[in-house]
Amino acid sequence: MASIARLVLILGGTSEARALAAALVASGVRVVSSLAGRVASPRLPEGEVRVGGFGGPNGLAGWLTEYDITAVVDATHPFAERIGESAVRGTALAGVPLLRLERPGWVPTPGDDWHWVDTLREAAAVVPSLGSRAFLTSGRQGLSAFAHASGVWFLARCVDPPEPPLPPRLEVLLSRGPYRVADELALLREHRIEVLVTKDSGGSLTSAKLTAARQLRVPVVVVRRPPRAATESVTSVDAAEAWVLERVRDHPHARP
Ligand code: NAP
Repeated sequence: MASIARLVLILGGTSEARALAAALVASGVRVVSSLAGRVASPRLPEGEVRVGGFGGPNGLAGWLTEYDITAVVDATHPFAERIGESAVRGTALAGVPLLRLERPGWVPTPGDDWHWVDTLREAAAVVPSLGSRAFLTSGRQGLSAFAHASGVWFLARCVDPPEPPLPPRLEVLLSRGPYRVADELALLREHRIEVLVTKDSGGSLTSAKLTAARQLRVPVVVVRRPPRAATESVTSVDAAEAWVLERVRDHPHARP
């Protein structure tokens, strides 16, 4: 398929970002995906890839201008607040259209015992009242919030090893999703987990733990998503792909 010369930036680090990059590359669109560089060996998307921060909104605006970017899709994780803010301000400064691609949050079903909180620190305050053996799936960067949760043993699952401060009674499980319900059930049983802690990341790749918790009647502490600046947004990769195609084809320099 003929390639469209204009370059589209995807702010990535999620499965949706990788799926969008693959779909656009297949449609002949030139894509560069941007990763923060937090994970030692990330899953790489198709198309071009750049790694590392831009230097805030001004840095991003300069980068968009330098590379003559036609459109930006912010497909970063719902809890990646700073890059979301940078995307809104940086694209406005550079005059480049922005779309937010964000998967829907998780919704409890009958039988769930979910406890909503606003922050990981609030989660740490609630956990001891729900159980003394907790499974933390909120990522390695959030573990410091539990460093002073007393009387609780933690199992923390993360992609790369966490750094201090950490809870004193901690076992770390290094792994990366997706996860299956049968394996999550086995894990919760093996470690006699009494409470699960998660961010409301949404999506199907890591939702098996919620099904397992429901089946074992384990309470779940769910951290609400932080608010994001208002911008045009979609929840599906297909809708994001259609938005990009409209922009690259409308562009005066695009070639079919
Ligand atoms: P964050 O707090 O919003 O970002 C901190 C800084 O890292 C940003 O200001 C930016 O630096 C840089 N950055 C973040 N995402 C970037 C990207 N895609 N490309 C280039 N620079 C980026 O983000 P975070 O929560 O640390 O997450 C980092 C990345 O991991 C995100 O891309 C996100 O999609 C992914 N991720 C996050 C989570 C989570 O729970 N937070 C979970 C799964 C995946 P500058 O200001 O210098 O531009």
